[in-house]
Amino acid sequence: MALRLYNTLSGNVEEFHPLRGNEVRMYACGPTVYDFGHIGNFRTFIAVDLLRRFLLQSGFRVHHVMNITDVDDKIIRNAARDGVSVKEYTAKYERAFLEDVAALNIQQPELVHATDYIPDMAGFIAGLQEKGFAYRTEDGSYYFRIAKFPAYGKLSKRDFAGMQDGARVDVDEYEKDNARDFALWKSPKPGEASWETQIGPGRPGWHVECSVMSMKVLGETFDIHTGGEDLIFPHHENEIAQSEAYSGKPFAHLWFHPRFLLVEGEKMSKSAGNFYTLRDLTLKGHKPSSIRYLLASVPYRNQLNFTFDGLHQAAASVERLRNFQWRLTSGKFPAGVNDSLNDLAKAAENNVRAAMEDDLNTAQAQACIFDLVRAANAAMNAGEMKQENVAPMLKALERFDTLFGVLQDDDAAKMKAVVEWAKSAGRESEISQETWNAVQQGQSTDAQIGEKVAQMEEARRARNFSVSDSIRAELASAGILIEQTKEGARWRRK
Ligand code: AMP
Ligand code: ZN
Repeated sequence: MALRLYNTLSGNVEEFHPLRGNEVRMYACGPTVYDFGHIGNFRTFIAVDLLRRFLLQSGFRVHHVMNITDVDDKIIRNAARDGVSVKEYTAKYERAFLEDVAALNIQQPELVHATDYIPDMAGFIAGLQEKGFAYRTEDGSYYFRIAKFPAYGKLSKRDFAGMQDGARVDVDEYEKDNARDFALWKSPKPGEASWETQIGPGRPGWHVECSVMSMKVLGETFDIHTGGEDLIFPHHENEIAQSEAYSGKPFAHLWFHPRFLLVEGEKMSKSAGNFYTLRDLTLKGHKPSSIRYLLASVPYRNQLNFTFDGLHQAAASVERLRNFQWRLTSGKFPAGVNDSLNDLAKAAENNVRAAMEDDLNTAQAQACIFDLVRAANAAMNAGEMKQENVAPMLKALERFDTLFGVLQDDDAAKMKAVVEWAKSAGRESEISQETWNAVQQGQSTDAQIGEKVAQMEEARRARNFSVSDSIRAELASAGILIEQTKEGARWRRK
């Protein structure tokens, strides 16, 4: 079976095949780095991460590019407010974003920065002007002429026929329903960041950034373009218009849009008091792995309603998976094989795959792995698990975790890093007792570490390298260095 994905552009679930050989070229609209990432942002980035990981697991090569929007109205405003340069301002939030991405075990795409492509953007706008798709206004700004692109509206399925030519909006922060000629380039205002270019001084509009960087890095036509559903209109509609007007070729083939996250049934907003960054939740004592598991638990096209009950359940699920792995790797089982258990392991592996092929049905994939956990735990309790059942069980679990990424227990170290950040950011009073406890528990005793090292050695002697490697990685993330000596492994803290 092949992967089937919903394509916003066609409005259908389609079989996915890359346009060029075995390589998937994928562009993700990334964050505007003017604040800390919230769980809505990470809902979308985790959905994209699951897509990426599943493509990789399916044997594709993936060229995954994400932009960092490091210049826009909000950034310029906030940097001026704080009395720092735009660069200084965005560098801080980009670093924070990447730390959060790592904490959530999101595989980092190749990054491109808007401010590194300004001359390309100016050249692109000049090209559009030459073809009659762009015009310059008196103040030196440039706009896209929507009336010249009849396919405008094909992504968002809106009808723009009869739209007035030349009506426009001047800012990035559009009123959503005002489809009018949009800014490609903004003339400089006093005190604002601007660049000298072939089309004059100024700065690019947000839509131009994504069109130019995606085509530059991936080619004029590529496979997948992603972003939260709020970006369908106008951002992605505008990207299509500019790009296709410029190149005369189809732009992205498949458009992937995760639905917006709700918190306790409502739209997340600061004023409603239900707005959470990843760091807020970590300081309340929640593990990054629980947050990742919860944000992955609802298929991307369904609305995920984030609740604290759900978060506790996710934490319990992760704990069960880790315990299952632990029982398998540390248990003593009689020699031989129980065929029906190996059939179960194989079925679980196939069912997870089938669920993911069905437009990334993550809820179903999680249900399938828990079917296995339940049956295998019962078999262990009944003494029916044999030595040769262990490897197939671990394989099913590890293949699941290649996608879901929650087995490695490095939560305490990640939470410790957030604690250190909170102290330096004057937010120490927000560190909850639960967070302190989790960090403390992560600081294992010598006996506990010695025990882990012994297990790693045992797995290595049994040539069970996936287990020994994963224990080694776990120890490394907890800051333990291991040296191999003639007398066996020695360890020490960093
Ligand atoms: P931004 O930094 O606001 O440009 O957003 C970065 C990404 O997060 C975009 O793909 C947005 O569509 C997505 N996003 C923002 N808010 C939410 C939300 N509540 N639920 C899901 N995705 C969101
Ligand atoms: Zn974009």
